[in-house]
Amino acid sequence: MEVMGLCAICGRSAKLYTCPLCGKLVCSRCMDPEKGVCIQCARGRGGPAEGTGDVGTYR
Ligand SMILES: [Zn+2]
Ligand SMILES: [Zn+2]
Repeated sequence: MEVMGLCAICGRSAKLYTCPLCGKLVCSRCMDPEKGVCIQCARGRGGPAEGTGDVGTYR
């Protein structure tokens, strides 16, 4: 489903998609198409997650 509004990340008006993880409404540019979550959730939360990208455990 598509909703027009302001992106919760970049703040521009666009078609919005709901991130299943954080529930934010974000535009297509701020949604990671591979992971199906917003770019913030795709990066991981809280800091630079520049690792293998293997998310087995989170703490
Ligand atoms: Zn955006
Ligand atoms: Zn998210």
